[in-house]
Amino acid sequence: MADISLEDFRAEALKFLESVAERRPVEKEFVWGEGSDNFYREKDRAQEAKNAEESKLWRQKKFDAGFGWISGPKQWGGRELPGAYDRAYSELEVQFKVPDNGPFGISLGMVTPTIEDHGSDAARELYVRRLWRGEMIACQLFSEPGAGSDLASLTTKAERDGEEWVITGQKVWTTGAHYSDIGEIIARTDWDMPKHKGLTAFIVDMKDPRVEIRPLKQMTGGASFNEIFFNEVRVRDDHRLGDVNNGWNVALTTLMNERASIGSNNAGDKNLLTRVIALAKHYELDKDPVVRAHLADVIIGFRVAAMNAQRAAAKIKLGQLPGPEMSITKMALVNNQAKLVTFLSHALGAKLIADTGEWGTYAWANFVLGTPGLRIAGGSDEVMRNIVGERVLGLPKEPGIDSVSPFRDIKVSAPKK
Ligand SMILES: Cc1cc2nc3c(=O)[nH]c(=O)nc-3n(C[C@H](O)[C@H](O)[C@H](O)COP(=O)(O)OP(=O)(O)OC[C@H]3O[C@@H](n4cnc5c(N)ncnc54)[C@H](O)[C@@H]3O)c2cc1C
Repeated sequence: MADISLEDFRAEALKFLESVAERRPVEKEFVWGEGSDNFYREKDRAQEAKNAEESKLWRQKKFDAGFGWISGPKQWGGRELPGAYDRAYSELEVQFKVPDNGPFGISLGMVTPTIEDHGSDAARELYVRRLWRGEMIACQLFSEPGAGSDLASLTTKAERDGEEWVITGQKVWTTGAHYSDIGEIIARTDWDMPKHKGLTAFIVDMKDPRVEIRPLKQMTGGASFNEIFFNEVRVRDDHRLGDVNNGWNVALTTLMNERASIGSNNAGDKNLLTRVIALAKHYELDKDPVVRAHLADVIIGFRVAAMNAQRAAAKIKLGQLPGPEMSITKMALVNNQAKLVTFLSHALGAKLIADTGEWGTYAWANFVLGTPGLRIAGGSDEVMRNIVGERVLGLPKEPGIDSVSPFRDIKVSAPKK
């Protein structure tokens, strides 16, 4: 039972927001050619770092006022209020000019819940509150040059040395590592077990001088990813997540949350569709029945995805874990966005690849170039289809010996005995 009514809570939240932030001006109806066309421009690393700092400060302020983890446990600074209070606060916050929550997507959406579920008492005491308060940001250190879809083939190793572990290896595609304070890493701790069984998860300090972070440039021009080298990085045993050699289950907790959070964005940004429709009208493409049908298809796709996301949210509200069906939601996001990109490419043609200065044309380039990455992030399309086939439709698993043989025997680069 909540110790404050929803109405009083809203009044309290509004009072707080009015005391610390300016209201956003009422959004004018979108008119093609008016205002900035800076729709989806990617930030450079300096802007990303500045943005992360601002977001951290904002999160600390709202956490201290009681709005940083509304439904979280009191033990770590939460208020233990029902999810409806979270939603009520979010509805109010969007009306104010406050730093965005972007830098916390992986940190609070994926890594922190994993630490809550699998961390030692010491690790949970040390990190959970600080992560929710925004003092820290966490990244996800899973993928390697030789282990992406087949994550369990990873070869970064962790060797025990008394009360510590020594981690050596390379990770890649790590989003936001350059502004993160800690990371969740999966490393191999037993080469004689089958590949899924000899893994262990740890929390690692990203500021450790033995952690080397190098940027990776994307075709959009940005560099929000990194490749990371671990050169005998020492981690205390109380920074282990879960049992030794049970890292695969820890990774699954994170991956399930990843798919849920990627999928939950699939409702389609209202402004996005408004802009696309305005673009079609501006170039009089809306008169063409084929284009109309294509656009209608895109809009229906986004609507259906929004309803699916609501179904999933209702499940979570009932206390059920997001399951494999969340993969469908992620696939819907990818398909809808890909269809939209096809439409934009046909509509804008060469204006997408060279900046002619014409309003609202080249402005889409980042969106178009960033979309293929979605097909890969959080599990590629093909892997998602495999998951749906096996776990939702009950089709037989692909045969293979690599899940039963000792990893040392199947990986050419594995250390020999
Ligand atoms: C935007 C973005 C953000 C990311 N952020 C992070 C991050 O923060 N941390 C992190 O650890 N990683 C991150 N990644 C990496 C991501 O998890 C991997 O790229 C992904 O798992 C795919 O691995 P891979 O790139 O090695 O491709 P591969 O696994 O080598 O796949 C290559 C191709 O083979 C196909 N394929 C592979 N296996 C099968 C199969 N069994 N059946 C059918 N087809 C198959 C794939 O679908 C793909 O088309 C990010 C990636 C992107 C694009």
